[in-house]
Amino acid sequence: MLLKQMRILVTNDDGIHAPGLKVLEKLARSLSSDVWVVAPESEQSGMAHSLTLHRPLRLHKLGARRYAVSGTPTDCVLVAVNHILKDRRPDLVLSGVNRGANLGEDITYSGTVAAAMEAALLGIPAIAMSQVRDGEHLHWKNTEIYGPLVVREVMKMRLPRGTLVNVNYPALRPEKVAGTEVGEQGRRLSMVQVVEASDPFSRKVLWIGDFPSDEPEKGSTDLDIIKRGSVSITPLHVDLTYNPLLSGMKAAFMKKRVRSPGKPRGKT
Ligand code: MN
Repeated sequence: MLLKQMRILVTNDDGIHAPGLKVLEKLARSLSSDVWVVAPESEQSGMAHSLTLHRPLRLHKLGARRYAVSGTPTDCVLVAVNHILKDRRPDLVLSGVNRGANLGEDITYSGTVAAAMEAALLGIPAIAMSQVRDGEHLHWKNTEIYGPLVVREVMKMRLPRGTLVNVNYPALRPEKVAGTEVGEQGRRLSMVQVVEASDPFSRKVLWIGDFPSDEPEKGSTDLDIIKRGSVSITPLHVDLTYNPLLSGMKAAFMKKRVRSPGKPRGKT
């Protein structure tokens, strides 16, 4: 299929008013004229792959091919594919551009990546994009410059079912970016922390803070690539099986049957 004829769905986890969504929308429109935006009406960062099951959702039409949903990024993809676009599904889902990195273990918390994951589960090629923060500044131009190349190459590859692509742009101006590199998901040395603070009434509160150091460990991961100043690209899969443990675990649990105690005899 020609890129120009692609139906592209754009979503995110920072919400319908986020600057990164406009950046991604612009990228999508530079590739195709059939672009649809369905994004959460409020910030949903850190919601990962949550589904809203216990309350109804509200759909707000904000303009031509533009909607806000009172739910999570995953809800947005489901509402878009199974309701708004049910007569013709999207050929590509773009999620982001997230305000901040989705590297290493971030991927397990990320609503941006989860929206792409939902698309992968529905059999639709999907790319999550995030811009690493440079202090408070975000170099959105990187998406404009590198985004078209990334989308074109990914679409050429014909992603296998259940796969998605995670892209992070480094915290550098486009002219300083070293190019594109592919690597596996990394792991930081430090984790998300819980910080004690007080509210204005001197009562204790806890903040969950996202203050990991970006110390890479191996040299070939997404964290390393970003540290080298390149655009990091990682193929992901929705199958979370850890294959190296399969055979050992199969041996450990080979037909282990625990006898149920049953009813004691002779008593009522
Ligand atoms: Mn976010």
